[in-house]
Amino acid sequence: NAIAILENVSYLYPNSTEPVLNNISLEIIQGEFLGIIGPTGAGKTTLCLTLNGIVPQFHGGRFFGYVTVAGLDTLKHPVSTLARYVGAVFEDPETQLLSTSVENEIAFALENLCVEREEILARIPQVLEAVRLEGLQHKHPQELSGGQKQRLAIAAALALQPQLLILDEPTSQLDPIGSQEVFATVKELNRELGVTIVMVSHGAEEMAEFSDRIALLSAGRLLSTGTPHQVYSQI
Ligand code: ADP
Ligand code: ADP
Repeated sequence: NAIAILENVSYLYPNSTEPVLNNISLEIIQGEFLGIIGPTGAGKTTLCLTLNGIVPQFHGGRFFGYVTVAGLDTLKHPVSTLARYVGAVFEDPETQLLSTSVENEIAFALENLCVEREEILARIPQVLEAVRLEGLQHKHPQELSGGQKQRLAIAAALALQPQLLILDEPTSQLDPIGSQEVFATVKELNRELGVTIVMVSHGAEEMAEFSDRIALLSAGRLLSTGTPHQVYSQI
């Protein structure tokens, strides 16, 4: 059973003549940890953005094919609706953190969705424990280490109880310790909470260790999918 399905997806950014995604078909299986790899410019980020509707909804351009997430056609549901099913964490921890305290950071998106106060107060300690930041709810996000900041961004995404969590190079700006913390946290969410993971990273060792399956993109095409061993042995 798939949590997301891409069917013959091609996409061109506005004013672009080259497709950044070229006829991609891929099923993301409920509960898996899918790693996405490939050279810079391959289309990894764009592929991630098709899963939460940002591509094409916020970018325009020309889109072909279908993407469904949790049974919803991402062309037909607004990004704000899709955000209840798909969480996303990006490369730069700084640009994602907007609040003056760790707990406000987590409450922010929930308040926007009009989740009740009591429910918000219940979820804060749950997600902080899930990313091992318990006890830090009153800290200012800027007091956290790089790895802690990314884990806070993950906690904030997790508070919306997404079925699918996308992480686009979440460790590329972290030192090895921060990077290891983030990978371990993501794997734990996958194993223990059953959150389906799509993760982009250039960290081949960690990706081979933590992914159930790897998809290799190059120049907008899906070159192969398979176990980490199968895919890394081809490149
Ligand atoms: P990566 O996912 O490889 O870390 P980024 O997400 O930071 O890379 O950016 C992806 C690429 O998209 C970059 O090479 C950036 O220069 C390019 N890019 C971003 N916006 C535009 C744009 N409006 N026009 C052309 N290229 C863009
Ligand atoms: P990756 O994540 O694999 O590095 P991206 O999906 O970020 O690849 O980018 C793929 C290609 O799309 C790159 O050539 C990049 O310059 C281009 N691109 C990315 N964002 C935009 C944009 N907003 N407008 C035009 N071109 C873009």
